[in-house]
Amino acid sequence: MKGGSIVGSLAGRLVVIVCAIISVILFGQAVVGLSGEVTELDARVATRGTLLAQAAANAAEPAFERDASGRFDTVISQLQRSLDVVEASIVDRDGRILGHSDPALVGRVDPIAGVSSFGMQAPLRGLMHLFDESADYRVIAPVQRGDHLIGFVRLHYRSSEVSERAVFIVGATGGWAMLWLLIGGTAATLYVRHITRPLMRLTEAAQALTDERLDAVDLSGMERSEAGAADELVTLQRAFRHLVMGLRAERAENATLLDQLQSLNMHLQDRVDEVTADLRGAHDHLAAVVGALEEGVLSCTVDGEIVQVNDAVSRHLEGISRPQHGLHIGELVPSVEARLRQSFAEVMEHGRAMSLEVEAPVAGRTRILALRIVPMRGQRRVPNGGVVTVRDETEARMLEGQLRRQDRLVSLGTLAAGLAHELGNHMHIIQGFANVLVKRLPTDSEFHEDAQAIHEENRRAVQLLRRFLQFARPDEGNFVDADLAALAREALSFCRVELKAAGVTVEDRIGDAPRPIVCDPHLLQQVFINLSLNAGDAMREQPERRLVVTLTEAQDPPGWALVFTDSGPGVPPELRDRIFDPFFTTKSTGTGLGLAIASRIITAHRGRLTLSSPPSGGAVFTIALPRPEAFGETTA
Ligand code: ADP
Repeated sequence: MKGGSIVGSLAGRLVVIVCAIISVILFGQAVVGLSGEVTELDARVATRGTLLAQAAANAAEPAFERDASGRFDTVISQLQRSLDVVEASIVDRDGRILGHSDPALVGRVDPIAGVSSFGMQAPLRGLMHLFDESADYRVIAPVQRGDHLIGFVRLHYRSSEVSERAVFIVGATGGWAMLWLLIGGTAATLYVRHITRPLMRLTEAAQALTDERLDAVDLSGMERSEAGAADELVTLQRAFRHLVMGLRAERAENATLLDQLQSLNMHLQDRVDEVTADLRGAHDHLAAVVGALEEGVLSCTVDGEIVQVNDAVSRHLEGISRPQHGLHIGELVPSVEARLRQSFAEVMEHGRAMSLEVEAPVAGRTRILALRIVPMRGQRRVPNGGVVTVRDETEARMLEGQLRRQDRLVSLGTLAAGLAHELGNHMHIIQGFANVLVKRLPTDSEFHEDAQAIHEENRRAVQLLRRFLQFARPDEGNFVDADLAALAREALSFCRVELKAAGVTVEDRIGDAPRPIVCDPHLLQQVFINLSLNAGDAMREQPERRLVVTLTEAQDPPGWALVFTDSGPGVPPELRDRIFDPFFTTKSTGTGLGLAIASRIITAHRGRLTLSSPPSGGAVFTIALPRPEAFGETTA
C-alpha cells in the first residue's frame, strides 16, 4: 500500500467536505441576508400603508360631520393612487359604509367593520408568510374627533415588490437545496458504492471468519470492487482475500493432516484399548493374587506413607490399628512405632530388605507379628517405596511351643514306658511273692493283714502300669466283622454285677436288630465297660442311679450311635475339654487313662467319642461308628 495515495485520497475527500461546509455556510448567510432585506422592505410597506390609512382617516374626519360622500370618494381615490389597493373603505362606528373602492357597496353595512373590529391586531408577517399570502396588507385606522371614535378607514393593499423578492429568495433557496441534494445524493451513492459496500462486505467476511465459517466468506464481491474502491480499501481487500485464501489452503492442509491424525488416533486408540485390557487383566490378576494372600501386604511411599493394603492386613492387625491410605507404616503397631519407623527408613536408605518380629498387646494377649520390609526400586535402582508384609505368628509360635512340649512328652513317655515295663517285671515278681505270702501266712497271723495290703496295693500298681503301657503302646487291633448290638449287650452283662452292687439300674435299649460293624470286639467292649463303670462311679453319691444304653442309626457319618446316658452330676463345663486328656482324673483312685484310651480306640475304628451334658443333668457319652461299607471307604 502506498502512503501517498492514501493521504491524497483522504485529502481530496476532506477538501470536498470542507467546500461543502463553506458552501452551506455561504448559502445560509445569503438566505439570512435576503430574508432580512425582505423583512425590512415588508416593514416599510406596512408602515407606509399604516401612515397612509391614518392620513386618510384624518382627511375623512371633516366629511363625517357634513356627510359629504364626495369627500370620501376623494380620500379613497388618493389611497388608490398611492398604493396597489385591493379594497379600501370608510365606515362609521355602526359599520355603515360611507365610502368604498367599489362604489356599489356605499350605504351598506359592513358586517365586520363594527366597533368590535377596532384594535384588531395586524396579522403576523414574515418571509414565508409574505410568500404564502402574496404580500397582502390589511390596515384599520380609527377616525377620531377629539377623544371620540366616529369611524374607521379599512385598507387592504398589496406590494408586488415584496412578494417578488420573497419569491426570488424562496426560488433561490430551493435551487440551492436541490443542487446540494443532488451533490449529496451523488456523493452518498458513490460513498456507499465504493466505501460502505466493500466495508460491509469486509465486515461480513470478517464476521464469518470470526464464526469460523471460512466457506461462507464471499470473496467474489471483493474481486469486483478492486476496480473502483478506494486505494486503501483495495489494499485491505487484497490483504483480506490473501488471508482468506491462505486460511483456506491451510484448512485444507489441516483437514488432510486431521484425517491422517484421526486414522493414527484410531489405531493408537485400538492399541491403547488392547494394552489397557491387558493391563487391567494383569492388574486384576495381581489384585486377586495379593487379595488371596494369607500374608498382609502393604505398599508405601519412600517416606513410609501407606498407599495400598490388601484385606489380610486388616485381619492380621485387627485390634491394633486400622491400616489405611495415608497412614505412616510406623503407626501400624503403635507400641513399637519408633522401631518400625527407624527400620523402614534404614531399608529405604540402604536398599536392603529387613525382617523384624514385633510383639503387640491386644485385649490382654501378646500378639507376635512378623514384618518384612522390602524396598521397591525405581530408576537407577534407587528405592522409591517399600512393600511391607505382615504375618501373625502368634498361633504358629504357640504350635511350635506345643510341638516342642509334645516332643519332650513323647521322649518322656518313651522313657516312662520303658521304665514302666522294667518296673512291671519287678512288680510281677513282688505280686507273686505277695500272693505266696498271703496264702502261707495263717489268717490269724498279725502279718496276714499287712501281707494282704502289700498284695492289694501291688495289684493296683500292676494294673496302673498295664493301663499306662496300653496307652503308651496301643494295641494295633484285630478288626473283624461283628454285630455292634451283640457286643454292647455282652459288655453290659460283664459289668452288670458290679453295677448292681453299686445300686445302678441298667436300662437296655439296644434292641435286637443286628448292627453290622467292622471292629476289634475286645477293644470296643473295653470302651463300653469303661463308660459303664465311669457312670457307676459318677452316680455313687446320687439318690437315683440309672444308666440307659441306646443304640440307633446315625446319619453323619452313616452308621450307628451307641449312647450311654447316666443320672449322675454330669461333667462341669470347665472340665469338658480336659476329661479326654491322659492322666486327667477327679477320682482319688483313678488313673485318668480310661477316656483317653477309649477315645483312641474309637478313633482307630473311624468313629467319634463325644460328651454332652443335657440341661436335665447327667452325662451323655455318644459313640458314633461307621457301617462296614463306610469303614472300608475311610480305611482306604
Ligand atoms: P478315671 O476314671 O481313671 O478317672 P477316665 O479317663 O475314665 O479316668 O475319666 C476321667 C474323668 O472323667 C473322671 O475322673 C471323671 O471326672 C470324668 N468322668 C468320666 N465319666 C464320667 C461320668 N459318667 N460322669 C461324670 N464324670 C465322668
